[in-house]
Amino acid sequence: MTSLSGVNMLTRVKCVCGAESDISGVTPRLNGIEVYCKVCGAVTTHFDE
Ligand SMILES: [Zn+2]
Repeated sequence: MTSLSGVNMLTRVKCVCGAESDISGVTPRLNGIEVYCKVCGAVTTHFDE
């Protein structure tokens, strides 16, 4: 069964260019998650709150 109920984690990071990168499965780090944008090539650091 596939259910999204109860899942409240942010798994997408919005880049400065507006594209969203999927970060599900990426291990959270204290210094934030560095997400590479496939669209513009920028690296966005996402901080898990
Ligand atoms: Zn981008």
